[in-house]
Formats: sequence, C-alpha cells, structure tokens
Amino acid sequence: MDGGFLLVLSGPSGSGKGTVSEALMEKNKDIIFSTSVTTRMPRPGEVNGENYFFTSIEEFEKMVENDELLEHAFVHTNYYGTPKKFVFDEIDKGEIVLLEIDVQGALQVKKKYKDAVFVFLIPPTMDELKSRLVKRDTETEDEIETRYRNAFQELDFVGEYDYFVINDVIENAVKNIEDIIAAEKLRVKRHKDIKREVQAEERKNTK
Ligand code: 5GP
Repeated sequence: MDGGFLLVLSGPSGSGKGTVSEALMEKNKDIIFSTSVTTRMPRPGEVNGENYFFTSIEEFEKMVENDELLEHAFVHTNYYGTPKKFVFDEIDKGEIVLLEIDVQGALQVKKKYKDAVFVFLIPPTMDELKSRLVKRDTETEDEIETRYRNAFQELDFVGEYDYFVINDVIENAVKNIEDIIAAEKLRVKRHKDIKREVQAEERKNTK
C-alpha cells in the first residue's frame, strides 16, 4: 500500500497534545501511536507499554548505543526517545504513525526523514497553558515552572514546522489535524502510480 507517513505532533507541555491525539486516534483508527521510551517515572494511571515504555537510564543509553531510536532528547528533566523499528514497520504497511515528541526530537526527525509531516500545537494563551499545567496536578511547582519556561523557548521553533494548530476547542484542533492528514494523503509524491490507482478504481466500478 502507498501512503504511509510520519505525523509529528509537538507543542509545549500543557498545549493539550495528549488530549488532542487521543481524540484524533479515537476517531481515526488508521492512525497508529508510536509509544516512546522514557526514563521518567510513571504518573498515576499510566501503563507501561501503552503511554510509554518506562525504562532505566542504563537501558535507555543501551538503546541509543545500539541505534534503536529514531530520535531522542533530554526533555525537562528526563530522557525520551522513539523506537525506530516499530515506526518504519508501520510506515511500510502504509500506516500513518503519530509521534508526540518535543521540538528537539522533531528537528532530528526532520533531518533524517523528509516525508514526515510536522504539526505544532499552540495553546490559546500562555495564561491558559499555565492554568492547564496547574489544573492537571501531575507536576510539582518547580516542574510546572520548568515546563512553563520551556514553553516560551519551544514557541521559537514553530517556524520549523509545516502547520500550526491552535488548541482552543479540542474538536476544532482535531478537525484541523484531520484536514491536514487528508491533504497530505493526496500529495502526489505519496503515490507510486496514480494512473494505475484510477484504472483500478474504474475496474471496481464496472464490475
Ligand atoms: P510528558 O513527561 O509530559 O509525558 O512529556 C514531556 C515532553 O516529552 C512532551 O513535550 C512530549 O511530547 C515529549 N516526548 C514524549 N515522548 C518523546 C519522545 O519519544 N521523544 C522526544 N524527543 N520527546 C518526547
């Protein structure tokens, strides 16, 4: 099948990446989530192998050494990385693989993988971002401050992305990303032989 590609979604902590990607995948079963590896401790309710593969620093370093990660970065206070094999296996099958990663990781992917699509999720305001961080109550005050400070720096990188989406109302943000995916699926470069596809469609209709 033609058409598999990487969809990279970044945005500051508190921009709502997690909520938006969950809603996106709930509606679009053909989008496959790439589960990252992290050295961060699990939060209450997080499941190993589902939200993340939680691992030790030693194991993480081993994965880096063995070139098992497509990208990796030190984000806030922990290591995060994308297992390479899973991503490429799924793309080869023609799937859209969603990478929810920070800007450092996205820049690494951009260098290596030209066909990826880069989307930056922006909170409606920085005040709203702060209040979301406080409300979700999963970080200490210091961690919230770090994430808030980092959010300003991450915004400097929006120019490296193909699209930006403002996450004011979740449904609208999801719709925007669905529209981006729909357009990206129609890129000529993502199809090997469009004439053959048209002929196959014609044969199907005349049966
Ligand atoms: P959290 O600890 O809140 O789950 O994630 C913190 C940050 O790490 C978020 O910006 C998230 O997108 C980013 N992140 C999660 N997984 C990866 C990954 O595999 N690689 C990179 N570079 N960043 C990641």
